[in-house]
Amino acid sequence: MTEAELKQLVEKISEQAFQRPFKHQVKINHRMTTTGGRYYLNDHHLEINDHFLAPQYRNELIGIIKHELVHYHLHLAHQGYRHRDSDFKLLLNRVQGSRYAPDIGLRRKPKRKYTYVCQNCKVTFKRVRRIDVSRFACGRCGGMLRLINEQK
Ligand SMILES: [Zn+2]
Ligand SMILES: [Zn+2]
Repeated sequence: MTEAELKQLVEKISEQAFQRPFKHQVKINHRMTTTGGRYYLNDHHLEINDHFLAPQYRNELIGIIKHELVHYHLHLAHQGYRHRDSDFKLLLNRVQGSRYAPDIGLRRKPKRKYTYVCQNCKVTFKRVRRIDVSRFACGRCGGMLRLINEQK
C-alpha cells in the first residue's frame, strides 16, 4: 500500500465513521516498533506503522486509523483528545477504534546474545546480559560455566 492509498483509506474512514473530512497528511512510519500509529498535534498529520499495511492486517489497520482519527477530530474541535479524556473514550467507543496497538507479534523479546555451557553437566543456556562466570555457577549442578557464543 502506498502513502497515497493509505491517505485515501484514512479519508474514507473519516467520512464513513466520523462524517467529517480528513484534510491533513498521512505518512508511513518504518521505524515504529509496537505502536500502531501516532497523531501529531503540531501539524495534524498521522503516521501509521508500516507493519500494519500488510493485507492480512486490514481490520487492525482500520482500528488504528480510527483511533488516530479520534485524536485528530477531537483535537481540531477543541475537545478532550487525550486517552484519559471522556470525550476520547466516548468517541473511540462509538467508532469502534482500537484501544491499544493490536498484537501482531511486534512486542519482541530482547535478543539473548550470550550462550553459556556448564563444564560439568554440559547444559547450555542463553542470557540477554553477560554474566560473571567466576561468581555464578550452573543452576542445575553447581558446575563452572563457560561462555561459548556471543552474537552481535
Ligand atoms: Zn492514541
Ligand atoms: Zn551443570
